[in-house]
Amino acid sequence: MTIPNFLIDQHVHSSYSPDSNSTLEELVRYALALGKPAIVTTDHLEYDCKYFKQDVHIDWKSYHREVEELLLRYPMEIRKGIEVGFRSDYKDVINEYLAQREFDVILLSAHNDGYLDFSEKAYHDLPIQQRLKHYFMQVREAVDQMDNYDIVAHLDYVTRYTTYPVDEEDIVACKPVLYDILKLIIEKEKVLELNTTGLYRQGWIHPHPYILDMYVNLGGRAVSIGSDAHQVGDVEQGFAEAIEMLHSVGIREVVQFKGRAPYLVSI
Ligand SMILES: [Zn+2]
Ligand SMILES: [Zn+2]
Repeated sequence: MTIPNFLIDQHVHSSYSPDSNSTLEELVRYALALGKPAIVTTDHLEYDCKYFKQDVHIDWKSYHREVEELLLRYPMEIRKGIEVGFRSDYKDVINEYLAQREFDVILLSAHNDGYLDFSEKAYHDLPIQQRLKHYFMQVREAVDQMDNYDIVAHLDYVTRYTTYPVDEEDIVACKPVLYDILKLIIEKEKVLELNTTGLYRQGWIHPHPYILDMYVNLGGRAVSIGSDAHQVGDVEQGFAEAIEMLHSVGIREVVQFKGRAPYLVSI
């Protein structure tokens, strides 16, 4: 399976995220070696981050300075994205932050519920069914309450961290809330992300094939592919599997963004 050159990894963390050490220059050089025309960075914006126990912000001044310098040295377009960790109690602050800046693409995620990070062991003390439903309700709130975003990232993110294996029947039991989320994504003309990190965690590309099937059956076609790389070598990991998965449901195009404007790339 060849990965088309114009297919760009739309979920990548650089060292402007606290959980990545990959510099912009490393990402640019890696993309050049892959024959890519552009890179996208989607670093974290997280108010009251439960994982880092503080607000997580991007140093835009340094970022812009570095981008300008790299553009002089490399034939590479650098797109400015962001991964927004939703919190309903910070909704206004998040919206104000986003309105004040220009982006190429905005990813929407739910990483914590205001008490615990979904990756924390303590979050998974309750039975999986309760935890899955609670998590998906946070995602529904995010997708519903926010408007200024393009892509819904790693829809079943919480399954990366469960202490018990999650079976398809556990996902099926969440069908009503999943139905709401997928309907909202379609109605609001947003894009569903295939996040390949899941392949190396819980064993499937986010979202679970059951959820992707539901999305397609409801009429959803708009998808993006992202590796959620936190180190340069993980950029585009699992993309061949993601393309195969999309082909299996009859999708042969992905949506990419430049200046928030969507365009299609054939896969
Ligand atoms: Zn995330
Ligand atoms: Zn991410």
